[in-house]
Amino acid sequence: MTSAPAIIILGSSALPCARRIQALYPQAQIYGLSGRVAGVEQLYDNFGNTLRALYRAGTPIIALCAVGIVIRSLASVLGEKDCEPPVLAVAEDGSAVVPLLGGLGGVNRMAREVAAHLEVNAAITTSGELRFGTCLLEPPAGYVLADLEQGKGFVSDLLGGQTVRIEGDAPWLAQAKLPVDNSAARVIHISPHTRATNPDELLIHPQQVAVWVEQASPALVSELQQALQTSNLAAQSLACLLAVPALMANTELHAAAAQLKLPLRFIDDVSQLPPLHSQHANLRLLLAATPIDTSQLGRPRGRLTVIGLGPGAAEFMVPAARQALDEAQDLLGYETYINMAGPLRPEQVRHCTDNREEMQRARHAFELAASGRRVVVVSSGDPGVFAMAAAVLEALHESTDAEWQRVDLQVFPGVSAALATAAKAGAPLGHDFCLISLSDNLKPWAIIEKRLEHAAAADLVMAFYNPISKARPWQLGSALEIIRQQRTPETLVVLGRDIGRPGETLHTLTLGELTSEMVDMRTLVIIGSSQTCRFPRAEGGEWVYTPRSYPQI
Ligand code: SAH
Repeated sequence: MTSAPAIIILGSSALPCARRIQALYPQAQIYGLSGRVAGVEQLYDNFGNTLRALYRAGTPIIALCAVGIVIRSLASVLGEKDCEPPVLAVAEDGSAVVPLLGGLGGVNRMAREVAAHLEVNAAITTSGELRFGTCLLEPPAGYVLADLEQGKGFVSDLLGGQTVRIEGDAPWLAQAKLPVDNSAARVIHISPHTRATNPDELLIHPQQVAVWVEQASPALVSELQQALQTSNLAAQSLACLLAVPALMANTELHAAAAQLKLPLRFIDDVSQLPPLHSQHANLRLLLAATPIDTSQLGRPRGRLTVIGLGPGAAEFMVPAARQALDEAQDLLGYETYINMAGPLRPEQVRHCTDNREEMQRARHAFELAASGRRVVVVSSGDPGVFAMAAAVLEALHESTDAEWQRVDLQVFPGVSAALATAAKAGAPLGHDFCLISLSDNLKPWAIIEKRLEHAAAADLVMAFYNPISKARPWQLGSALEIIRQQRTPETLVVLGRDIGRPGETLHTLTLGELTSEMVDMRTLVIIGSSQTCRFPRAEGGEWVYTPRSYPQI
């Protein structure tokens, strides 16, 4: 299965059964109709749109409702996909499991798994599968059918009464109820080798071949194709690319793995390698006796993704950040932000720390990622704005550890508090602006004063982060004094507190009215320029904006 299934329910009566199915697929998320269901991972407003979006994205769908609703909802998109995801309907009380679509995507296997888990029978209707107890066209993990079209004809022949022999080793076929006859004309070949296609044969490749890349090169893929050809091995028999950890950050190697759609694993101890089949210029082909379980061979390249959650509300988080969270094995961050990053799964390790231990957290993240884990460091807003991205880069810059340098490090942006607050108010950042943290924990107060003076003199709109705290009670007052020397009391100010979070507040006032007591550490302060203006909005309150054009001086 490519991705975790989505379990869709229409009402809370289906929730117990949905949770039982989720116990079988812990990565699955439950989607509930908003207003009818609460306490699930995802809420939706429109059943049909949600189902079609999941189908288009190739997400396996388990819908706890009548098959008719599912069929009608998906009818308009059915022709769009060559390889469709499994789609199952399950009676909301768990008494019936009906595989509907995705015969080649494993729907029958999923239906059997779900049915066994719910202790009922799956309503399997695929004739080949009913007769033989297995779908020859969809072999289990580790085996790949050489040619689907040819396979369809072959299975029809068997259904028509032809007998079959099996050549090669496939334990799963031994359990099937095939019409085996050792003198049969039809034959199933289980082999990592290529062979001329023949309508009387079904060729299934076990993924027994690994490629040991000794040296990366831009021609790696064509070299590999050449090597497979001279060795008479099928590309579909490939299980993975292997290399030494020193090649972990090599872009040619990654490009080749992506092009071949093969996992890439790194081996510290070469005695772990499968037996040598043939040696070629830059690579070796290795041939194991049985399909290779890639997850047990060496280790993957570790990944460290620094993400921003946005201001708070889930819909303002970028989808790439959500995906990184869903794929993470370890999460690091200030506890409040880790709690905001949900839904998380129980097996995802949360390393909650105090907000001030940023460098320690960054180093810990690299240690975990260097061991091959998928790690996410969480900030609020944008990770590059007074947050973890700079700390993570600082840790890497300081480090001489080669394993840290090889980690797949990425920074994903988020909606920063200034942008979120500005959007709520209208467009106060519509012209030139600057972002200033008023915290003097990491820089001298004199520097802040100088920046405020210059920014005020330049008539820049200013957004203040970390405006005040118990340990820094007077700084905001001093900052306002500096600004008041250059800006009139009528200058507009926007205060956004807990924007995008429960209890959010937004206030517009003037510089003359602003006092430190109106601000706390959860507030973002925007000081307008001489041009920032406001007007009433229909719902009450007002819009604030800074015009795009500036008067000619
Ligand atoms: N990386 C964050 C900023 C971290 S500094 C970002 O890009 O938004 C922390 C400061 O950001 C707080 O003191 C407050 O001034 C501001 N802030 C963060 N989230 C906020 C929110 N939801 N509403 C208002 N201000 C917020």
